[in-house]
Amino acid sequence: MVQEPRSVSILGATGSIGVSTLDVLGHTEDGAFTVEALTGASNIALLARQARKHKARIAVTADESRYRDLKEALSGTHIEVAAGRNAVIEAASRPVDVTMAAIVGIAGLAPTLAAVRNGGVIALANKECLVCAGRLFLNECEAHGATLLPVDSEHNAIYQVLAGHDRQAVESVVLTASGGPFRTWRREKMATVTAKTAAAHPNWSMGLKISIDSASMFNKALEMIEAQHLFQLAPEQIEVIVHPQSIVHSMVRYRDGSVLAQLGPPDMRIPIAYALTWPERAPLPVERLDFAKLARLEFEAPDETRFPSIALARRALDEGKAAGAVLNGAKEAALDGFIAGRIGFLDMAERVEAAMDALAGEPEPLALDAVEGIDRRAREIVKP
Ligand code: NAD
Ligand code: MG
Repeated sequence: MVQEPRSVSILGATGSIGVSTLDVLGHTEDGAFTVEALTGASNIALLARQARKHKARIAVTADESRYRDLKEALSGTHIEVAAGRNAVIEAASRPVDVTMAAIVGIAGLAPTLAAVRNGGVIALANKECLVCAGRLFLNECEAHGATLLPVDSEHNAIYQVLAGHDRQAVESVVLTASGGPFRTWRREKMATVTAKTAAAHPNWSMGLKISIDSASMFNKALEMIEAQHLFQLAPEQIEVIVHPQSIVHSMVRYRDGSVLAQLGPPDMRIPIAYALTWPERAPLPVERLDFAKLARLEFEAPDETRFPSIALARRALDEGKAAGAVLNGAKEAALDGFIAGRIGFLDMAERVEAAMDALAGEPEPLALDAVEGIDRRAREIVKP
Protein backbone atom coordinates (compact mmCIF):
# COMPACT_ATOMS: atom_id res chain seq x y z
CA MET A 1 0.00 0.00 0.00
CA VAL A 2 1.39 3.38 -0.95
CA GLN A 3 0.94 5.85 1.88
CA GLU A 4 0.35 9.54 1.52
CA PRO A 5 3.41 11.58 2.49
CA ARG A 6 3.20 13.15 5.94
CA SER A 7 3.71 16.90 6.08
CA VAL A 8 6.01 18.20 8.82
CA SER A 9 6.87 21.62 10.23
CA ILE A 10 9.89 22.08 12.46
CA LEU A 11 9.81 24.94 14.94
CA GLY A 12 13.44 25.46 15.95
CA ALA A 13 14.88 23.65 12.91
CA THR A 14 18.39 25.08 13.39
CA GLY A 15 18.83 23.81 16.95
CA SER A 16 20.10 20.49 18.21
CA ILE A 17 16.68 18.77 18.08
CA GLY A 18 15.81 20.45 14.77
CA VAL A 19 19.01 19.24 13.11
CA SER A 20 18.46 15.70 14.43
CA THR A 21 14.87 15.80 13.16
CA LEU A 22 16.03 16.67 9.64
CA ASP A 23 18.63 13.91 9.91
CA VAL A 24 15.86 11.42 10.74
CA LEU A 25 13.78 12.68 7.79
CA GLY A 26 16.83 12.13 5.58
CA HIS A 27 16.84 8.45 6.60
CA THR A 28 13.18 7.83 5.82
CA GLU A 29 11.93 6.47 2.51
CA ASP A 30 11.73 8.93 -0.36
CA GLY A 31 8.41 10.68 -0.35
CA ALA A 32 7.46 9.62 3.18
CA PHE A 33 7.58 13.21 4.43
CA THR A 34 7.20 16.68 2.95
CA VAL A 35 8.48 19.74 4.78
CA GLU A 36 6.12 22.68 5.20
CA ALA A 37 7.73 25.24 7.55
CA LEU A 38 11.23 25.49 9.01
CA THR A 39 11.86 28.16 11.62
CA GLY A 40 15.06 29.43 13.19
CA ALA A 41 16.49 32.57 14.74
CA SER A 42 20.05 33.81 14.24
CA ASN A 43 21.65 31.07 12.13
CA ILE A 44 20.37 32.24 8.75
CA ALA A 45 22.91 30.31 6.66
CA LEU A 46 21.93 26.99 8.23
CA LEU A 47 18.21 27.74 7.98
CA ALA A 48 18.56 28.56 4.27
CA ARG A 49 20.63 25.42 3.63
CA GLN A 50 18.04 23.27 5.39
CA ALA A 51 15.15 24.88 3.51
CA ARG A 52 16.83 24.28 0.15
CA LYS A 53 17.86 20.72 0.90
CA HIS A 54 14.48 19.64 2.29
CA LYS A 55 12.41 21.72 -0.17
CA ALA A 56 10.53 23.56 2.56
CA ARG A 57 7.48 25.56 1.57
CA ILE A 58 8.40 28.42 3.94
CA ALA A 59 11.45 29.44 6.00
CA VAL A 60 11.04 31.85 8.90
CA THR A 61 13.53 33.56 11.16
CA ALA A 62 12.28 34.81 14.52
CA ASP A 63 14.72 37.72 14.20
CA GLU A 64 12.84 40.48 12.38
CA SER A 65 16.05 42.30 11.45
CA ARG A 66 17.33 39.28 9.48
CA TYR A 67 14.55 39.21 6.86
CA ARG A 68 16.74 40.53 4.05
CA ASP A 69 19.56 38.11 4.85
CA LEU A 70 17.23 35.14 4.68
CA LYS A 71 15.51 36.43 1.54
CA GLU A 72 18.89 36.80 -0.12
CA ALA A 73 20.08 33.37 1.02
CA LEU A 74 16.99 31.82 -0.58
CA SER A 75 16.96 33.85 -3.77
CA GLY A 76 16.36 31.80 -6.90
CA THR A 77 14.07 29.37 -5.04
CA HIS A 78 10.30 29.34 -4.67
CA ILE A 79 10.61 29.10 -0.89
CA GLU A 80 8.52 31.67 0.94
CA VAL A 81 10.43 33.82 3.44
CA ALA A 82 9.19 35.60 6.56
CA ALA A 83 10.63 37.10 9.75
CA GLY A 84 9.58 38.07 13.26
CA ARG A 85 7.78 36.51 16.21
CA ASN A 86 4.36 36.74 14.57
CA ALA A 87 5.65 35.20 11.37
CA VAL A 88 6.87 32.18 13.37
CA ILE A 89 3.41 31.86 14.93
CA GLU A 90 1.75 32.21 11.52
CA ALA A 91 3.97 29.52 10.00
CA ALA A 92 3.29 27.25 12.97
CA SER A 93 -0.44 27.66 12.43
CA ARG A 94 -0.34 26.23 8.89
CA PRO A 95 -1.98 22.80 8.90
CA VAL A 96 0.43 19.85 8.86
CA ASP A 97 0.34 16.22 9.95
CA VAL A 98 3.22 16.57 12.43
CA THR A 99 4.80 19.59 14.13
CA MET A 100 8.17 19.19 15.81
CA ALA A 101 8.10 21.74 18.63
CA ALA A 102 11.81 22.35 19.26
CA ILE A 103 12.23 26.03 20.06
CA VAL A 104 14.08 26.49 23.35
CA GLY A 105 12.40 28.15 26.33
CA ILE A 106 9.06 29.84 26.82
CA ALA A 107 9.57 31.45 23.38
CA GLY A 108 8.25 28.12 22.06
CA LEU A 109 4.91 28.35 23.82
CA ALA A 110 2.96 30.70 21.52
CA PRO A 111 4.06 29.01 18.25
CA THR A 112 3.42 25.52 19.67
CA LEU A 113 -0.05 26.54 20.86
CA ALA A 114 -0.73 27.82 17.34
CA ALA A 115 0.24 24.40 15.98
CA VAL A 116 -1.94 22.63 18.56
CA ARG A 117 -4.97 24.50 17.23
CA ASN A 118 -4.63 22.57 13.95
CA GLY A 119 -5.19 19.29 15.71
CA GLY A 120 -2.32 17.30 14.18
CA VAL A 121 0.45 15.40 15.95
CA ILE A 122 2.58 17.58 18.22
CA ALA A 123 6.03 16.06 18.73
CA LEU A 124 6.93 17.97 21.87
CA ALA A 125 10.59 18.62 22.61
CA ASN A 126 9.87 22.05 24.15
CA LYS A 127 9.20 20.93 27.73
CA GLU A 128 8.60 24.55 28.77
CA CYS A 129 5.10 24.38 27.18
CA LEU A 130 4.04 21.92 29.89
CA VAL A 131 6.15 23.36 32.70
CA CYS A 132 4.77 26.90 32.30
CA ALA A 133 1.30 26.22 30.97
CA GLY A 134 0.49 22.57 31.64
CA ARG A 135 -3.25 22.79 32.06
CA LEU A 136 -3.73 25.42 29.34
CA PHE A 137 -1.64 23.39 26.90
CA LEU A 138 -3.43 20.11 27.59
CA ASN A 139 -6.84 21.81 27.44
CA GLU A 140 -5.97 23.18 24.01
CA CYS A 141 -4.75 19.77 22.81
CA GLU A 142 -8.01 18.23 23.88
CA ALA A 143 -10.21 20.98 22.47
CA HIS A 144 -8.54 20.74 19.06
CA GLY A 145 -7.98 16.98 18.94
CA ALA A 146 -4.19 17.29 18.80
CA THR A 147 -2.12 14.18 19.60
CA LEU A 148 0.70 15.00 21.99
CA LEU A 149 3.80 12.80 21.72
CA PRO A 150 6.72 13.55 24.06
CA VAL A 151 10.17 13.81 22.49
CA ASP A 152 12.08 14.45 25.74
CA SER A 153 13.85 11.10 26.06
CA GLU A 154 12.62 10.35 29.61
CA HIS A 155 9.00 11.14 28.80
CA ASN A 156 9.20 9.35 25.49
CA ALA A 157 10.50 6.30 27.40
CA ILE A 158 7.60 6.48 29.88
CA TYR A 159 5.13 6.97 27.02
CA GLN A 160 6.46 3.81 25.34
CA VAL A 161 6.37 1.85 28.59
CA LEU A 162 2.82 2.93 29.44
CA ALA A 163 1.41 1.97 26.04
CA GLY A 164 -1.14 -0.80 26.35
CA HIS A 165 -1.09 -0.81 30.17
CA ASP A 166 -3.79 0.01 32.67
CA ARG A 167 -3.07 3.50 34.00
CA GLN A 168 -4.76 2.60 37.29
CA ALA A 169 -2.00 0.04 37.86
CA VAL A 170 0.80 2.64 37.75
CA GLU A 171 2.43 3.25 41.12
CA SER A 172 5.04 5.80 40.07
CA VAL A 173 7.37 6.87 37.29
CA VAL A 174 11.13 6.93 37.73
CA LEU A 175 12.90 9.63 35.73
CA THR A 176 16.55 8.85 35.15
CA ALA A 177 19.13 11.65 35.24
CA SER A 178 22.73 11.47 34.05
CA GLY A 179 23.84 13.74 36.89
CA GLY A 180 25.69 15.93 34.38
CA PRO A 181 29.37 16.91 34.42
CA PHE A 182 29.39 17.86 38.16
CA ARG A 183 27.81 14.68 39.50
CA THR A 184 30.78 13.91 41.75
CA TRP A 185 32.03 17.47 42.35
CA ARG A 186 32.19 19.20 45.73
CA ARG A 187 29.87 22.17 46.16
CA GLU A 188 32.77 24.63 46.66
CA LYS A 189 34.25 23.63 43.31
CA MET A 190 30.86 23.96 41.58
CA ALA A 191 30.62 27.57 42.77
CA THR A 192 33.38 28.72 40.42
CA VAL A 193 32.57 26.93 37.14
CA THR A 194 32.08 28.78 33.86
CA ALA A 195 29.30 28.26 31.30
CA LYS A 196 31.78 26.47 29.04
CA THR A 197 32.60 23.81 31.67
CA ALA A 198 28.93 23.47 32.60
CA ALA A 199 27.90 22.95 28.97
CA ALA A 200 30.14 19.90 28.47
CA HIS A 201 27.66 17.08 28.95
CA PRO A 202 29.19 13.61 29.44
CA ASN A 203 26.64 11.62 27.35
CA TRP A 204 24.31 13.74 25.26
CA SER A 205 25.03 16.33 22.60
CA MET A 206 22.42 19.08 23.07
CA GLY A 207 21.81 22.83 22.84
CA LEU A 208 23.74 25.17 25.17
CA LYS A 209 20.91 25.96 27.58
CA ILE A 210 19.67 22.41 28.16
CA SER A 211 23.29 21.26 28.58
CA ILE A 212 23.85 23.77 31.40
CA ASP A 213 20.43 22.88 32.84
CA SER A 214 21.61 19.28 32.95
CA ALA A 215 24.70 20.32 34.91
CA SER A 216 22.55 22.15 37.51
CA MET A 217 19.87 19.45 37.29
CA PHE A 218 17.33 22.18 36.52
CA ASN A 219 16.65 20.14 33.40
CA LYS A 220 15.45 17.27 35.63
CA ALA A 221 13.47 19.78 37.70
CA LEU A 222 11.63 20.91 34.55
CA GLU A 223 11.13 17.28 33.54
CA MET A 224 9.51 16.43 36.88
CA ILE A 225 6.90 19.14 36.26
CA GLU A 226 6.59 18.08 32.62
CA ALA A 227 5.85 14.52 33.78
CA GLN A 228 3.27 15.69 36.31
CA HIS A 229 1.17 17.27 33.56
CA LEU A 230 1.86 14.84 30.76
CA PHE A 231 1.00 11.71 32.73
CA GLN A 232 -1.35 13.32 35.27
CA LEU A 233 0.64 12.20 38.31
CA ALA A 234 0.54 13.15 41.97
CA PRO A 235 3.81 14.68 43.26
CA GLU A 236 4.70 11.53 45.22
CA GLN A 237 4.40 9.44 42.04
CA ILE A 238 7.43 11.19 40.49
CA GLU A 239 10.83 9.73 41.40
CA VAL A 240 14.27 10.77 40.19
CA ILE A 241 17.30 8.48 40.12
CA VAL A 242 20.78 9.31 38.88
CA HIS A 243 21.96 6.88 36.21
CA PRO A 244 25.30 8.15 34.86
CA GLN A 245 25.34 6.01 31.70
CA SER A 246 22.07 7.33 30.18
CA ILE A 247 21.08 3.90 28.85
CA VAL A 248 17.86 3.42 30.83
CA HIS A 249 15.84 6.43 29.68
CA SER A 250 13.16 6.10 32.39
CA MET A 251 10.95 3.52 34.07
CA VAL A 252 7.42 2.89 35.33
CA ARG A 253 6.65 1.02 38.54
CA TYR A 254 3.40 -0.95 38.53
CA ARG A 255 1.41 -1.89 41.61
CA ASP A 256 2.38 -5.57 41.36
CA GLY A 257 6.05 -4.69 41.90
CA SER A 258 6.98 -4.92 38.22
CA VAL A 259 9.20 -2.20 36.81
CA LEU A 260 9.20 -1.63 33.04
CA ALA A 261 11.97 0.39 31.42
CA GLN A 262 12.92 1.67 27.98
CA LEU A 263 16.61 1.38 27.09
CA GLY A 264 18.69 2.58 24.18
CA PRO A 265 21.86 4.45 23.27
CA PRO A 266 21.76 8.16 24.24
CA ASP A 267 20.70 9.37 20.78
CA MET A 268 17.80 11.80 20.44
CA ARG A 269 17.04 10.48 16.95
CA ILE A 270 15.29 7.52 18.61
CA PRO A 271 12.56 9.50 20.45
CA ILE A 272 12.37 11.95 17.51
CA ALA A 273 11.73 9.15 15.01
CA TYR A 274 9.24 7.54 17.40
CA ALA A 275 7.19 10.73 17.41
CA LEU A 276 7.51 11.35 13.66
CA THR A 277 6.48 7.87 12.57
CA TRP A 278 4.12 6.92 15.44
CA PRO A 279 2.30 4.55 15.66
CA GLU A 280 4.82 2.76 13.44
CA ARG A 281 8.55 2.31 14.11
CA ALA A 282 11.02 3.28 11.43
CA PRO A 283 14.35 1.48 10.97
CA LEU A 284 17.14 3.72 12.28
CA PRO A 285 20.89 3.53 11.72
CA VAL A 286 21.74 4.28 15.37
CA GLU A 287 24.23 2.42 17.54
CA ARG A 288 22.95 -0.89 19.00
CA LEU A 289 23.41 -1.56 22.71
CA ASP A 290 26.08 -4.14 23.46
CA PHE A 291 25.12 -5.46 26.89
CA ALA A 292 28.22 -7.56 27.38
CA LYS A 293 30.34 -4.47 26.78
CA LEU A 294 28.16 -2.34 29.05
CA ALA A 295 28.51 -5.01 31.76
CA ARG A 296 26.70 -3.03 34.44
CA LEU A 297 24.14 -0.28 34.86
CA GLU A 298 24.69 2.11 37.77
CA PHE A 299 22.19 4.06 39.84
CA GLU A 300 22.50 6.46 42.78
CA ALA A 301 20.21 8.84 44.67
CA PRO A 302 20.40 12.50 43.61
CA ASP A 303 22.14 14.79 46.12
CA GLU A 304 19.65 17.56 46.80
CA THR A 305 22.16 19.62 48.78
CA ARG A 306 24.47 20.01 45.82
CA PHE A 307 21.52 20.08 43.40
CA PRO A 308 18.80 22.19 45.10
CA SER A 309 16.93 22.36 41.77
CA ILE A 310 15.38 18.96 42.56
CA ALA A 311 13.96 20.22 45.87
CA LEU A 312 12.66 23.36 44.11
CA ALA A 313 10.85 21.15 41.60
CA ARG A 314 9.28 19.14 44.44
CA ARG A 315 8.09 22.42 45.90
CA ALA A 316 6.60 23.45 42.53
CA LEU A 317 4.86 20.06 42.19
CA ASP A 318 3.30 20.50 45.64
CA GLU A 319 2.36 24.16 45.23
CA GLY A 320 0.91 23.80 41.72
CA LYS A 321 -0.88 26.94 40.46
CA ALA A 322 1.71 29.27 38.83
CA ALA A 323 4.74 27.63 40.45
CA GLY A 324 5.90 25.87 37.25
CA ALA A 325 5.81 29.11 35.25
CA VAL A 326 7.61 30.96 38.04
CA LEU A 327 10.31 28.30 38.38
CA ASN A 328 10.88 28.27 34.62
CA GLY A 329 10.85 32.05 34.09
CA ALA A 330 13.21 32.59 37.01
CA LYS A 331 15.44 29.76 35.81
CA GLU A 332 15.62 31.16 32.24
CA ALA A 333 16.59 34.60 33.56
CA ALA A 334 19.15 33.16 35.99
CA LEU A 335 20.59 30.95 33.25
CA ASP A 336 20.97 33.95 30.92
CA GLY A 337 22.77 35.72 33.78
CA PHE A 338 25.08 32.75 34.31
CA ILE A 339 25.86 32.43 30.58
CA ALA A 340 26.67 36.15 30.45
CA GLY A 341 29.01 35.73 33.45
CA ARG A 342 26.95 37.98 35.74
CA ILE A 343 26.09 35.37 38.38
CA GLY A 344 27.70 32.15 39.57
CA PHE A 345 26.55 28.61 38.94
CA LEU A 346 25.15 28.10 42.44
CA ASP A 347 23.44 31.51 42.45
CA MET A 348 20.95 30.23 39.87
CA ALA A 349 19.04 28.05 42.36
CA GLU A 350 19.07 30.83 44.98
CA ARG A 351 17.54 33.30 42.52
CA VAL A 352 14.88 30.80 41.50
CA GLU A 353 13.99 30.15 45.12
CA ALA A 354 13.66 33.89 45.79
CA ALA A 355 11.25 34.24 42.85
CA MET A 356 9.23 31.25 44.06
CA ASP A 357 9.01 32.82 47.53
CA ALA A 358 7.93 36.19 46.13
CA LEU A 359 5.28 34.77 43.80
CA ALA A 360 4.00 31.88 45.93
CA GLY A 361 0.24 31.42 45.67
CA GLU A 362 -0.17 33.28 42.36
CA PRO A 363 -3.12 31.75 40.48
CA GLU A 364 -2.61 29.19 37.73
CA PRO A 365 -2.29 31.03 34.38
CA LEU A 366 -4.92 29.66 31.99
CA ALA A 367 -4.36 31.94 29.00
CA LEU A 368 -1.21 32.73 27.02
CA ASP A 369 -0.98 36.35 28.18
CA ALA A 370 -1.35 35.26 31.82
CA VAL A 371 1.51 32.77 31.39
CA GLU A 372 3.68 35.42 29.75
CA GLY A 373 2.76 37.88 32.51
CA ILE A 374 3.86 35.59 35.34
CA ASP A 375 7.00 34.67 33.36
CA ARG A 376 7.88 38.39 33.10
CA ARG A 377 7.36 38.95 36.82
CA ALA A 378 9.56 35.98 37.72
CA ARG A 379 12.31 37.32 35.42
CA GLU A 380 12.08 40.78 36.98
CA ILE A 381 12.65 39.35 40.46
CA VAL A 382 15.73 37.45 39.28
CA LYS A 383 17.18 40.38 37.29
CA PRO A 384 20.75 39.05 37.10
P1 NAD B 1 18.92 24.74 20.71
O1 NAD B 1 19.34 25.92 21.49
O2 NAD B 1 19.95 23.89 20.09
O3 NAD B 1 17.90 25.21 19.55
C1 NAD B 1 16.85 26.07 19.80
C2 NAD B 1 16.09 26.44 18.55
O4 NAD B 1 15.12 27.45 18.90
C3 NAD B 1 16.95 27.04 17.43
O5 NAD B 1 16.42 26.66 16.18
C4 NAD B 1 16.76 28.54 17.63
O6 NAD B 1 16.93 29.26 16.43
C5 NAD B 1 15.33 28.61 18.08
N1 NAD B 1 15.04 29.78 18.91
C6 NAD B 1 15.77 30.26 19.95
N2 NAD B 1 15.19 31.35 20.46
C7 NAD B 1 14.06 31.57 19.75
C8 NAD B 1 13.03 32.55 19.80
N3 NAD B 1 13.04 33.54 20.71
N4 NAD B 1 12.00 32.45 18.92
C9 NAD B 1 11.97 31.46 18.00
N5 NAD B 1 12.93 30.52 17.90
C10 NAD B 1 13.96 30.58 18.75
O7 NAD B 1 17.98 23.87 21.68
P2 NAD B 1 17.73 22.30 21.68
O8 NAD B 1 18.76 21.63 22.51
O9 NAD B 1 17.47 21.80 20.30
O10 NAD B 1 16.38 22.22 22.54
C11 NAD B 1 15.13 22.60 22.00
C12 NAD B 1 14.04 22.22 22.99
O11 NAD B 1 14.03 20.80 23.13
C13 NAD B 1 14.26 22.75 24.42
O12 NAD B 1 13.02 23.04 24.99
C14 NAD B 1 14.92 21.59 25.14
O13 NAD B 1 14.67 21.62 26.53
C15 NAD B 1 14.23 20.42 24.48
N6 NAD B 1 14.99 19.17 24.51
C16 NAD B 1 16.20 19.11 23.90
C17 NAD B 1 16.93 17.93 23.93
C18 NAD B 1 18.26 17.82 23.22
O14 NAD B 1 18.82 16.73 23.17
N7 NAD B 1 18.81 18.87 22.64
C19 NAD B 1 16.45 16.82 24.62
C20 NAD B 1 15.21 16.92 25.24
C21 NAD B 1 14.49 18.09 25.18
MG1 MG C 1 15.31 14.84 28.91
